[in-house]
Amino acid sequence: MGVIKHSLKRKKEKNQKSQDVLGEFKKLVKQNLSTEEKLNLITKLTAQHLKTDACTFYMMRPGEVLELYATYGLDKKSVHETFLRIGEGLNGEVALRRKPLQVENVWSHSGFVYKPETKELNLNSFAAVPVIHQDILIGVLSVQKKEQYRFSEEEIDFLLIIAMILSGMLLNLLTHNEGKVASARRHKKLDAVCLISGLAIGKAYVHKRMQFDSILSSDKLAEQKKLIAAIRKVEEEISQKLLLPDITHEQAEIFKTYLMFTRDKGWAKKINNAIEAGLTAEAAIQKVLNEITERMSMMSDPYIKERLHDFQDLAGRITRHLNKKQVKSSKRLAKNTILVAKNLGPVELLDYDLNKIKAIVLEEGSQTMHMTIVAKSLGIPVVSGIKDITTSILNDDVLAVDAVNGFLYINPSDEVLDDFDARFETYKQHQAQYLPFKNQPSETKDGTYISLNINAGLAADISNTKNFSYDGIGLYRTELPFMSATSLPDLKEQISIYKTVLKEVGNKKVIFRTLDIGSDKILPYFENKKEENPAMGWRSIRITLDRRIILKTQLRALIKAGAGRELNIMFPMITTIDELKEAKNLLHTELEREKEKEGLLPSSVQIGTMIEVPSLLFQLDELTNEVDFVSIGTNDLAQFFFATDRSNPIIWDKYDSLSPAFLKALQKILTACQKKGIPCSVCGEMASRPLEAFALLALGFTHLSMNPASLGSIKAVIRTTNIQEANHFLKNHLNDSDASLRTLLKSFATDHGVLI
Ligand code: PEP
Ligand code: MG
Repeated sequence: MGVIKHSLKRKKEKNQKSQDVLGEFKKLVKQNLSTEEKLNLITKLTAQHLKTDACTFYMMRPGEVLELYATYGLDKKSVHETFLRIGEGLNGEVALRRKPLQVENVWSHSGFVYKPETKELNLNSFAAVPVIHQDILIGVLSVQKKEQYRFSEEEIDFLLIIAMILSGMLLNLLTHNEGKVASARRHKKLDAVCLISGLAIGKAYVHKRMQFDSILSSDKLAEQKKLIAAIRKVEEEISQKLLLPDITHEQAEIFKTYLMFTRDKGWAKKINNAIEAGLTAEAAIQKVLNEITERMSMMSDPYIKERLHDFQDLAGRITRHLNKKQVKSSKRLAKNTILVAKNLGPVELLDYDLNKIKAIVLEEGSQTMHMTIVAKSLGIPVVSGIKDITTSILNDDVLAVDAVNGFLYINPSDEVLDDFDARFETYKQHQAQYLPFKNQPSETKDGTYISLNINAGLAADISNTKNFSYDGIGLYRTELPFMSATSLPDLKEQISIYKTVLKEVGNKKVIFRTLDIGSDKILPYFENKKEENPAMGWRSIRITLDRRIILKTQLRALIKAGAGRELNIMFPMITTIDELKEAKNLLHTELEREKEKEGLLPSSVQIGTMIEVPSLLFQLDELTNEVDFVSIGTNDLAQFFFATDRSNPIIWDKYDSLSPAFLKALQKILTACQKKGIPCSVCGEMASRPLEAFALLALGFTHLSMNPASLGSIKAVIRTTNIQEANHFLKNHLNDSDASLRTLLKSFATDHGVLI
């Protein structure tokens, strides 16, 4: 008994000591010192507290290298002089694996690399942890001892907490303007890929994924209260969901597991320990989640992996409640903000105050990824393909984006800014060339009427048509309002959303596509599975047929919103006819249910399918028997046809949708629909691009649905095209062996006065 008491007392004393040291760190971070001075003090304090002979911090630098940035115990001359590649040496290994590592005798470890300039010759044991903020690796913090030594769990834990402190401190360094650095980087001009054309000048805001207001807090009690309140909120949400009449057994089981987690004492204790150690509630959750993820992801048992997703989802839900204030603060942007990001999802974009975003600059991005489509419909220019942009731009840097000629200017000179006035003028004139077509009928030169429709989903889409006339909404992406919500919209909310759309377009036809989430359209509040290939994974109709309650609620909402008028519903990502039949059955059941309740039904219901998966190309007869209309999603269809991830910038322009093979696939679909006498439209981005739209007209398509921003340019193509001539020309080239007919089509169109 005495021994246990004694060891508990020692543990308590040790904890107290760690907390005192952390208190010193917290004070230090707030002091008015340069980052280098702070890092020197942090490495010294860490070494002293853990009784090690050295403590070193390596910082991630552009080009995937680690730079020795601060040290206590190694030769100071090696600071900024010693570099390691990711995976090189023990520190490089920690950066590569993003996991703590400890080695009792480095000299017998095959991965050890000796750097003579550091004079680390007499150091034998080693322990290090990665410094990560969300998925951004910021650096590696390591300690070394002369003696061969095994670090305890508490010691590694202490290093992990210091790593959290460093991550908050250094992330700010990476994105905040420190005057001196900014002036050294004046007048930079970089090449960029134009994804959405346009021009903008503004102040940089570097996007950080799931950022916290702060990582450290001196008010433990307040953090604990905040945490309890957030957990209660999540419990309330879940309990309400459990009361829903239509909840499936499977869903109920998942939610009950969540409730078990929120009441789990072990988990709560771990989070509380981290708060006790000085972290904010959100940072504490992140720390514990990182540890659980690290432990569980090594296990191959699928059941355990599922539980890991549950944990991640639950942690996300709690963090969202904790971060409510923070989400708003990220919206405190300058009036003219240029958003800079490595990559960006559509949900992340919709989280910002969009009126303030004048352009987006990305390291990685492609034309058909959903964020780009959303940005286009909002009229926000986008450039991409600029390496290391998030680490070489600081918040508040002035950026001039030329998404017409493909340039990005960082802190541009006065001459460049003056020149931008002229560029704005030229761009305005270019846009004005479509105005004469505004009120003209959507008819080709040889008199064929082309049904001109828009793709919508955001409130701004309908107003963004700039008074260009259009026939209807050919694709209403119902997932977009879901993306701007904070939880799954319920029946009432959905009815209101769909009614508003129908009211806004008056008598025009609206084709509602059922929920198409997954892949890059991740709802933060919905179960997210970590998949190797999310584009080919659990997405779209696959989710809604598995979680039927979601589809049933949506269909019910659409039926109620469409009462008394024509209702058009279309199903996305259909791969087999059975899936389509299953979805149709659900719709019929909902219609029957409404009829029994003697509710007012839609005057007629038209059912359509998207063609986005090539398997359907070989069952077109069977498919067209089942539907009233077809719409081709060329973004996904091309992705699967060419086996090229539409969001992957490395290969997105490798294959061309203007290839004879792809055009023949489109023609095959059109012919099958014509045979059955059902409308066939194209609603992928192909219909929004002038030359591609010209090719579609040449193939014989008479229904196009496009990004509202393209109405002017596509109307211009329609008005200047002679379909017969174009068709004759294209027919002669459909059996060419070339990879693309782009050049040929372009010269034909130019020679024949088509405004492409
Ligand atoms: C498509 O895939 O072409 C399509 C229109 O759907 P989304 O872009 O929303 O995936
Ligand atoms: Mg699609």
